[in-house]
Amino acid sequence: MIFPAPAFARFVRCPVIYDLHDLQGVPMPPTTRQVLSRIVRGEVKRELQSKLATQAIPDARGARLSVEQLSQEQFAQDIAYTPDEAARGQRTAFERTLTRAWALVGLWRAAVAPRIEPIATDAAYEFKAREHSITGYFECVTQDGNRLTARSTRVRSRRPAKDETAQNQVLFLLGKASPDARGACLSWDVTVDYLIDSDPLSVETQSVERSESIRVALQERVLNAARAVEAGVFTPTDPQNWKCLSCSLRECCRFV
Ligand code: SF4
Repeated sequence: MIFPAPAFARFVRCPVIYDLHDLQGVPMPPTTRQVLSRIVRGEVKRELQSKLATQAIPDARGARLSVEQLSQEQFAQDIAYTPDEAARGQRTAFERTLTRAWALVGLWRAAVAPRIEPIATDAAYEFKAREHSITGYFECVTQDGNRLTARSTRVRSRRPAKDETAQNQVLFLLGKASPDARGACLSWDVTVDYLIDSDPLSVETQSVERSESIRVALQERVLNAARAVEAGVFTPTDPQNWKCLSCSLRECCRFV
């Protein structure tokens, strides 16, 4: 089995989500928070590509136009509005999202971009667990001596927990996936820049190193996921937990 990384992340969140969305095709339109994240990460990716090619990020005017274009593209698609957002109308949601996206991109440009010198962007990886694998792309790779870092950006409405990056097993997978392609002598870590969409805006960077025991545990998780998919058995993680409260598939989920 090949799991695209977003599909594996859905399985990790709840196997029933994977079954409903990835296998049965039930649509999961993004919320406005997810749309905001997509716009910001889309612009970050474009700016990293610019930095890789020219050693500089685009000027502010170009960045502003790009954020606007990315916002228009996102709002041309289906979005899962909350009842409150639906009552206020799409125009209001668009303007608010565009304003927040530009503010967060501005924060990234000022506080994070100067610290990143990418040696690759959008770099493909494959993490193998016997005959199964996870495939995806690094947002960006940086190098400091013999240490490579898989770096990514996340948008949050609150500060991440102290060990949030260490707990995010998909990120561990991402970080561990590429050494084979680049040489086992290089050691890897994972760095995440959390852009926090609160007042005032802030940024928090977390870095983690992986261990062999974590790699083995994750490999086992991939094997378990593949076994569940092959057997057609999808067990909800915990029908009472917060994941169900914020799950856009709860209307069609037989477990809640
Ligand atoms: S409502 Fe809960 S159990 Fe059902 S798919 Fe969503 S997260 Fe899983």
